[in-house]
Amino acid sequence: MSVAPICIVLASRDPCRAAAAENLAACARAIATHSPAPIQAVVAGADPSAAAGETARHLGIPVTALEIADLSDPGDGAFGAVLADFLNRKAPAWILMEDTTLGRRLAGELAVRLAAACITGVEAVEGDAAGIVLTRAVWGGKFRAGVRATAATRVVTVASGAFAGRLEHTAVPADVRWAQGRAAHGGRRHLERIQAPEADAGLSEARAIVAAGNGIGEPDRLDLVRALAAKIAGAQVAGSRPVCDRGWLPFSRQVGITGATVAPALYIACGISGASQHLAGMSGAGLVVAINKDPKAAIFHHADIAVVEALETFLPLLIEACGQKED
Ligand SMILES: Cc1cc2nc3c(=O)[nH]c(=O)nc-3n(C[C@H](O)[C@H](O)[C@H](O)COP(=O)(O)OP(=O)(O)OC[C@H]3O[C@@H](n4cnc5c(N)ncnc54)[C@H](O)[C@@H]3O)c2cc1C
Repeated sequence: MSVAPICIVLASRDPCRAAAAENLAACARAIATHSPAPIQAVVAGADPSAAAGETARHLGIPVTALEIADLSDPGDGAFGAVLADFLNRKAPAWILMEDTTLGRRLAGELAVRLAAACITGVEAVEGDAAGIVLTRAVWGGKFRAGVRATAATRVVTVASGAFAGRLEHTAVPADVRWAQGRAAHGGRRHLERIQAPEADAGLSEARAIVAAGNGIGEPDRLDLVRALAAKIAGAQVAGSRPVCDRGWLPFSRQVGITGATVAPALYIACGISGASQHLAGMSGAGLVVAINKDPKAAIFHHADIAVVEALETFLPLLIEACGQKED
């Protein structure tokens, strides 16, 4: 009897994003370590061939390019129906998707259509004699819960960057198969896609982030945050919710439970108190540097380097020091 596979589903509007695909593949391998099963990927969209080829080359696992005709966007309601129909025929034990707005919505839809369990925001996988336990954040990131799904099929969204750097590459390109699904349009239609400005894209995959909190006090001080980011290779600027609510930064820059989930190697929190809703979005960060004038700020409990100082005093010194190092 064949073993039910683990299916990675990439239903992005964009071409293959290596970091996202790797994150899903590493999570799939973690599951397969405890419960051996073949791993395969499905790249679905209106024109998935290029992304499917890239995914097969990059991950070294078999990929199906699922072309969904007449469908310009996975945000369309018909997309989930076609995907569910295709996956149903594969009878997977696990379906893994990105923990993005689109991924979460599709995961819920697939779970309903396939009578599967749905577990979102998975950060870790462990196994014991009784099976697999998935860890996810609950209560706005204040606690971690272990979830054991007993359904035959589980649809999981994997927290961005949670398994980053854990994939051992096979370097052997895998086969790409071709499949087609036809969308019967349902009650929800995609009307328009508004592209975020180039500068607003890719926060969840940034290698370094300099984040501004309420402590910056006035919008002009964002220039200090931008100047520091400009000194760090690959760094992007982000903000806490109050900063984005005031319009000092666009919403697409917000980190946290109602914003982006990020996992950079370096996170510099400037004037951020460390509320659980903010921490929920950056708990996957590597080195955390916190600059805050209040020595009792909660962010210091989550920081590797704590700087108790006013931003207006410390940031110009840090920017200057970075500049000197470059010269
Ligand atoms: C349902 C819900 C969802 C939410 N989602 C999010 C979310 O996604 N992301 C998010 O960020 N928040 C979110 N929040 C809001 C969250 O609860 C906090 O209010 C918010 O994170 C606080 O932002 P902050 O740390 O920038 O500001 P504050 O809490 O006001 O902290 C400012 C910090 O700056 C320090 N400071 C002040 N002046 C200076 C100075 N000159 N130099 C150095 N330090 C200084 C202060 O000591 C303080 O610690 C959410 C809240 C709710 C209820």
